[in-house]
Amino acid sequence: MRYASGTVPHDSAQRIRFNFCPAGVERGCVRPTRTTPACGGSSMKRWAAMLFATMVACSSGDWHTRKGDGTFYGRRAGDVWVRGPWEEIRPSRDVDEVIEQLCPAIMKLPRASAGAYGQEYCGAIYSVDGVYYASYGSPLGKTILMYPETRKQCYSPRFVVDDRGRASIIADYHSHPWQPSPMSDRDLWSHSQRWLLRIQFDTGCRVMKLIPHVGESRPGEVFAREERRWRLIGHILP
Ligand SMILES: [Zn+2]
Repeated sequence: MRYASGTVPHDSAQRIRFNFCPAGVERGCVRPTRTTPACGGSSMKRWAAMLFATMVACSSGDWHTRKGDGTFYGRRAGDVWVRGPWEEIRPSRDVDEVIEQLCPAIMKLPRASAGAYGQEYCGAIYSVDGVYYASYGSPLGKTILMYPETRKQCYSPRFVVDDRGRASIIADYHSHPWQPSPMSDRDLWSHSQRWLLRIQFDTGCRVMKLIPHVGESRPGEVFAREERRWRLIGHILP
């Protein structure tokens, strides 16, 4: 998800936040900075956890992260682009068929289901000549440590690079590396919406769809995928 930089998670008064490896974990790490004072006797424990989290994130190089940056995804003028089509996902004239294939494919990527030390992946669903495709998932984003967890959030892509050109993005998608995990408040914020739809899923492959209705007076709608249908589970009230 793309959040304003410097955003501190809500109810974060006791949490510690830092960013590192901002351009992908393979490019070396910046030492963490504390933004809130550590609490008394537990500070050693906290630092040990932070050090461990940093080591996990920085040492777990993998092909997708090492080779992917600049090939499957990358940055352009402060935004993230993703390449498509991703061969793991069979194209379809029915966008729901594309959506249903996403979670199992994404969960095969490094640390996609690693829970507290996991990695989110963000990508796009787009159409070319009436057929829907999915892009590769991008891990580009930032790491937030919310003791005792790290969260590797990804940025929603702004561009799709498809050699055929003329890709129209209909949705962004992203994974959460734990479950159960419905959409977060930030996933629902209207200012973070860029496309017609937002798709999100967790490690249990519970798939959610948000139709934000940006710029319209009616409230956004949240659906869950159940038995190959979308069930309305809530509205986002202004
Ligand atoms: Zn999310």
